[in-house]
Amino acid sequence: MNINNMNEFSGQCVVISGAGRGIGRAITQKLLDQGARVIALDLDIAPLQALQTHHVQQLYAAQVDVSDFDAVAQAVSKGSNEFGPADKLVCAAGILQMGTISELTPEQWTRTFSCNTNGVFNLCNIVSKQMQARGRGAIVNISSNAASTPRLAMGAYAASKAAVTQLSRCLGLELAQSGIRVNIVSPGSTDTPMQQAMWKTGSSAQTVINGSAEHYRLGIPLQKIATPDEIADAVLFLLSDRASHITMHDLRVDGGATLDQ
Ligand code: NAD
Repeated sequence: MNINNMNEFSGQCVVISGAGRGIGRAITQKLLDQGARVIALDLDIAPLQALQTHHVQQLYAAQVDVSDFDAVAQAVSKGSNEFGPADKLVCAAGILQMGTISELTPEQWTRTFSCNTNGVFNLCNIVSKQMQARGRGAIVNISSNAASTPRLAMGAYAASKAAVTQLSRCLGLELAQSGIRVNIVSPGSTDTPMQQAMWKTGSSAQTVINGSAEHYRLGIPLQKIATPDEIADAVLFLLSDRASHITMHDLRVDGGATLDQ
C-alpha cells in the first residue's frame, strides 16, 4: 500500500479542527502535500497564518472555538464559499484536563466536554449536512485510547472521549445510507505539546514507555511514543478511498499500550 500517494486528495476540500499544532497540524500538512484544499480551524490562528504563507491557494484559516456552534457554522460557511463544500472532515481539536473526579471543578468538567465532545458534535452536525446534500463524504474523529481504558486523574478527558467514540459510531450508522463513512482514530501517547505538558508534571517519555504498576499502566509494547505523523497516516487512510468499505471503525494507534482493548 502506498501511503504517500502525492495526489490522493487532489481537488478535495477538507475541514479540520485543531489544525494549528500537534496531531491536527501533521494531518493538515499531509493533506496539503497530497493536494487537498483545507479549511483549517483553531483557537490559535498564528501557526495557521504562518502555514498559509506557503499554501495561499490551498489553506483557509479561521480562528474559532469549536465549542461555539455559531462561530463554527460561520467559519465553515466562509471557508466553503472559497473552497467549495466539504468532502472530508477531521475533528482533532481537544484539551486535556487532569484531575480526579473529586478534585475537578464543575467548570473544568464542563470546559472539557464543551471542547472535546460538543466541539465534535458542532462540526459533525454542520459539515455532515453539506455531505448529505451531495451523497458522499468521510469523517474521522480523534478520540483516545483513554476512551475505553480507565486512567488515574483523567476522568473528564476519558469520559469526553468515550462520548466522541459513541457519537461517531451512531453518526456512522445514521449516514451510511447517504454514502458517508464515519470512523474514529484513538491515539495513545503521542509526542505533541499536549503530551509534553504531562512530562513537565511528573512523568517522562521513558516512564510512559516503561509503564507504571503504581499507576496501573502497562507501558507501550512497541517501546516508543507515537509521532504525530504516525497518527496522521492512520487518519489519512480512513479518509481516503482506500478505506471505502470501512465505517464505524475505531482504529487504535497506541503501540499496543491498551492491548487493543
Ligand atoms: P495539542 O494540544 O498539541 O493540539 C491541540 C490543538 O487544538 C491546538 O492547536 C489547540 O489550539 C486546538 N484547540 C484546543 N481547544 C480548541 C478549541 N476549543 N477550539 C479550537 N481549537 C482548539 O494536542 P494534540 O496532542 O495534537 O491532540 C490532538 C487530538 O488528539 C486531541 O483531540 C487529543 O485529545 C487527541 N489525543 C492526543 C494524545 C496525545 O498523547 N497527544 C493522545 C490521545 C488523543
